[in-house]
Amino acid sequence: MRYVIIGGGPAATNAMETIRQFDSDGSIALVSDEPAHSRMALPYWLNGKISREQTLTADDDSLARLRVESHVGRRAVQLDLDQRRVVLDGGDALEFDKLFLATGSSPVTPPIEGIDHPDVQTMWTLSDVEKCLERFSDLACPRIAFIGAGFVGMILVGALAHRQCKLTVIEQADQILPRMLDAASASQAENWLATRDVDVVTGAQVVRISVCEGNDKHLELADGSKITADLVVLATGVRPNLRLVEGTAIRTDQGIVVDDHLRTSVDSVYAGGDVAQGPSLYGDTPAVHAIQPTAVDHGRVAGANMAGADVAYPGSLLMNVVDVCGLQCVSYGNWQSGDDEVVIDNSRDFIYRRLVFRGDHLVGALFVGRPHEVGMLNDIGMVKGILQTRPALGSWKEYLKQNPFDVRRPYIALKVPERLVSTTLLGRPSQPRQYRHGNAEPQSTNTPAHRWLLDAVRPS
Ligand SMILES: Cc1cc2nc3c(=O)[nH]c(=O)nc-3n(C[C@H](O)[C@H](O)[C@H](O)COP(=O)(O)OP(=O)(O)OC[C@H]3O[C@@H](n4cnc5c(N)ncnc54)[C@H](O)[C@@H]3O)c2cc1C
Repeated sequence: MRYVIIGGGPAATNAMETIRQFDSDGSIALVSDEPAHSRMALPYWLNGKISREQTLTADDDSLARLRVESHVGRRAVQLDLDQRRVVLDGGDALEFDKLFLATGSSPVTPPIEGIDHPDVQTMWTLSDVEKCLERFSDLACPRIAFIGAGFVGMILVGALAHRQCKLTVIEQADQILPRMLDAASASQAENWLATRDVDVVTGAQVVRISVCEGNDKHLELADGSKITADLVVLATGVRPNLRLVEGTAIRTDQGIVVDDHLRTSVDSVYAGGDVAQGPSLYGDTPAVHAIQPTAVDHGRVAGANMAGADVAYPGSLLMNVVDVCGLQCVSYGNWQSGDDEVVIDNSRDFIYRRLVFRGDHLVGALFVGRPHEVGMLNDIGMVKGILQTRPALGSWKEYLKQNPFDVRRPYIALKVPERLVSTTLLGRPSQPRQYRHGNAEPQSTNTPAHRWLLDAVRPS
């Protein structure tokens, strides 16, 4: 069997490793224009916590161990589905029996005059971060303006707050994190940012960027006001990379449409990650969930199915967790579309909690809080567990509405830990990743106490 994988992000690398777990003989070719890495790790490189190498998720050695033919640094430019070939940028081609498309997404660039200046950039690729760090070395306390206050934009703000920078966030919606938080929780996050000396301008549109004296960048807003910065970071959303499949028989909508086996509309062609529009755990229609956990799950399920297993994917849970300069902001599932809810809004202490129900189920949740608040991080984890295992709540729904800060009782009573422990994505225990930076052993949590806990909840 000849497998070809296009992409070098988490969807691609997880597919590659999973194929090898299920098929020790087939040939696997990986085509990626960037070195295999995790974009999610880029903010940590940006704020100096890790090195560039620590963002990588494969290297020549690990690829050789997996017997993967590496085409890293190459672009796939054309699909010939009749001949079952992928044409690469040099004109040569790879033949496949099974193809996995994991081309990810790319930042959207808004039509703003002056946006092509070198000091205006996205923060999406390894070379974006490299470029930004080079600019930092010239500036003692760079003034950075962010256009866009969505999920990735706010992650970057949180990362850069750890450096000596003056940050301004400009968002055209009336609130920050408009697709992730409701107005009340976003207002708490904005007030928090004010205490952290981050300027936030909402309901504002940048119409022009001009370069003035001393290489200052002036961002002119629609209302005529101006913001001055050394660097401008564009974080105005992403769009699936569909160019490769344009004009082919592969069906697309917002992304490449895939079924619960991650199959596209063309036989033997699979897709996953940011580029795919697939089953959603709390939605009736397929969705693009451009987040790392979905990319990982897609890669594993697609890899297993490509290699002959029969694994149905239950659907992705939209989950966004952002550390907004020390304030945790979390959104899960369909928090906008329930028929019942409980809301706690304590703006004085920066605590917000919204649990959203549909019928007998919890279908979404929002949290804002500081990590040291009693139970905050535990509750985030337990609510995620309830959403992932989807128990019928029965009388615990009313209990949660009356006691939204006591998630632990329903979590235990509904046997969520047992359900989580006995659930595996591929129907068997997961295996350790092949690649580790510097071949370092993972810091294991598998202590005697951990094993005892697992034994206690594992169904007999
Ligand atoms: C700064 C930042 C922070 C983030 N933080 C989080 C977070 O905290 N939590 C979270 O859940 N998500 C986060 N994300 C989003 C997450 O990184 C993405 O959802 C995830 O990377 C998607 O994985 P993927 O494998 O689908 O695509 P990608 O990781 O985008 O990988 C696709 C790869 O394929 C390559 N490629 C595309 N087309 C071709 C072609 N034709 N030929 C060859 N190669 C090609 C691309 O260049 C790219 O390297 C963050 C993203 C960024 C940028």
